[in-house]
Formats: sequence, structure tokens, C-alpha cells
Amino acid sequence: MKQIYMDHSATTPVDQLVVDAMIPYFTEIFGNSSSLHSFGGEAAEALSMARKQVAEAIGALPEEIIFTSGGTESDNLAIRGVIPYNTSKKHIITSVIEHPAVLNTCSFLESMGHEVTYVPVDTEGIVDIRKLEESVRKDTVLISIMHANNEVGTIQPIKEIAQIAKKHDIYFHTDAVQTVGKIPVNVDELDVDMLSISSHKIHGPKGVGALYIRKGTAIEPIIFGGNHENGMRSGTENIPGIVGLAKAMSLAQQRLNADSKHMQEMRDSLISRIFDIIPDVRLNGHPVQRLPNNINLSFKYVEGESMLMLLDMKGIAVSTGSACSSKSLKASHVLSSLNLEDDYIHGSLRISLGRENTMEDIDYVVESLKETVLKLREMSPLSSQ
Ligand code: PLP
Repeated sequence: MKQIYMDHSATTPVDQLVVDAMIPYFTEIFGNSSSLHSFGGEAAEALSMARKQVAEAIGALPEEIIFTSGGTESDNLAIRGVIPYNTSKKHIITSVIEHPAVLNTCSFLESMGHEVTYVPVDTEGIVDIRKLEESVRKDTVLISIMHANNEVGTIQPIKEIAQIAKKHDIYFHTDAVQTVGKIPVNVDELDVDMLSISSHKIHGPKGVGALYIRKGTAIEPIIFGGNHENGMRSGTENIPGIVGLAKAMSLAQQRLNADSKHMQEMRDSLISRIFDIIPDVRLNGHPVQRLPNNINLSFKYVEGESMLMLLDMKGIAVSTGSACSSKSLKASHVLSSLNLEDDYIHGSLRISLGRENTMEDIDYVVESLKETVLKLREMSPLSSQ
């Protein structure tokens, strides 16, 4: 059976060039980069090279890059790290549609006595800038707003938010896990103080990522030990993973224009064809300010999970924002924030494209989706078709 993977916002296959770059660092150049002998020296050299490559890909300085275990840790470090330095300031501003790595870090801080404002978004997923600025307080220490949303693909007006943060002398962190490699990401153009990166979303290995921290940012580590990563993140560096991340970032940067054009063409073709052949469907997220690889559709009268399973039986891997628990159907916090009509909220599918997908894959997915939705609607008591 044909196998088509279209869940690249969840994770991506590792590029063979990335695997090739990593392999020597498991067996030949395996030293601990902190060791003083030549084995350590070789590992330290690879680490320094990788730091340069990652920095270069986002317009940063090498010393502004801290390697972490992934996007989750980077978000934790950014948010929890600025708190101890700013003890008199206890207020954080974020949005209602952030990834759980940000939302759950914020709710932990609330339980420790900090205060968090969750700014709403409009029906297309754009953060309400007016409300964001209105929620600034004298004791606001940090604004954390994601660059693009992982479910609906909406890209936020990061530069505008950065201006507000600057005007009020507040640190600004953005979670760029879904944007690196898909749209240009440059820390000076975006004007952010901190930016989170994850390797496995860009054809790199899992369990490795980075946090950009602008020089001069008052931040403390959240993991203590042997003072690796300039004291900001202790723990022996994962050299093969870090080399893989650097290679994946360099490749993503080189291929950015070609890959994003290819994904956007497939995205737009799939959306327009689905709208032509399936009635009662809506596109979730922003129609234009949108990741080139993200398609998030809601189909009336069907459940996301049923579609996902039937598509899986046809060899197509996608995801849904509507999780079915034994007792209730609970829509994702992101879809719930968009104020979708009830009829649409449970029938969502996220199709996230990757560089290896083809227009032939799109043909197969469009046909399969049509069959799936029509079949489920035939069985649905809510549908009159
Ligand atoms: N932030 C966003 C927007 C994500 O999509 C993800 C992964 O799904 C993460 C953070 C977490 O990244 P990681 O899986 O590397 O911990």
C-alpha cells in the first residue's frame, strides 16, 4: 500500500545528509567536549562549528546559542530563566494558543505566585495586539508569543509585538519551532531577545534543540551541574545530536526558498481542490499569514479521529485537533480559541506537508479525503447528504 506521511508538524524524517554528518560522532569522534585530551578537543571543535552554523542560520552570534534537549526545554529555559533575575517583576504575557511547553510552564509559575495574562486571538488565530499592549504592567518581565502556531499555522506579527516589548522594556521570547526552515527566521529582523528551535521538526534528530539568548539578557540556568554551555545548561553535550541539528539548519536555510515554494504550491492546490469537491468545509487559521506547509480543515458532520483512522488505513498519516476521550469530545485549546461553530470544531484535520511530498501525493490525498468524508457523512445522523 502507498504510504504518505503528512504530519511534519509533529516530526520529520531525518535527512540522509544529516545522518551522514552525525555518524562519525557516535563511534570515531566520541570524546567528551570538556575533556582536555585530543578526543575531547575534536568533540569541542565539532561543538564550536555547530554553534557557528546554528547562529549563522538565524543571524545570531555563536555565543548567543545554548544547546538544549529540544523545543520544550528551550521554552522552559527562556521563561523560567528570566524569573530569578527579576524578582520584583512577576507578570508574564503570553497567548491562549501557545504550545503546552509554554502554557504549562506559565501555569507552573502561576502556582509559584507569578501572574500570567493569556492574550486572546481572533478567529484566524492572530494575537490581539491591542489587548496585548493593554495588559502590560509595571511588573511585566516577559512576553512570550509563538512565531507560528503548530496546529493552524497562523504566523504572528512578531515585529509589532517586539516593538511593544521594547517600548515597555520587557523581554520578548518567541517559540520558532514551527517556522525555522519554512519561513525566514532572523533574530535581528524579528527583534526578539530569545528564540526556541527544535531539530526534529526540520529533518534533524529528536531530543536536541537550541535557545537563542540575546547578549545582555538577564537570565539564569534552570539545570545545574558542570557548567556546560557557558553555565546556562549543564550536562555533557549531545555532540552527534548537535552536529545533526546544525546540519539540518544549514540544509533548511539553503533550501528555504525552493522548499517553501514547493510546499506552498501543494498546500494551495490541496485546499482549493478540497473546497471544489467537498461541501461544508472550512479552513482554520489565517488564509495568508500561514505556514507554507500547514493545512487545517474542519469538515461538518464528521469527527476528526474517524477521518484520521480511515485515512491511516489508506496509508495516509495526518493529525486531528479534536481528541476523543471516553466520555467527551474535547477540541484542542487552539481550535477552541478560534471560536469555531460547534458543527466544525470536532471535525478538524491537520495536514502538514514536507519537502519529500509530491503533487502525486496530493492527488491521492484529495481523492482519499473525498471518499472518507463522504463515507462518514453517509453514516452520520447529523448529515442530510
Ligand atoms: N513548540 C512548538 C510550537 C511545537 O510545535 C513543539 C513540538 O510539537 C514544541 C514546542 C516542542 O518541541 P520538542 O518536541 O522539540 O520538545
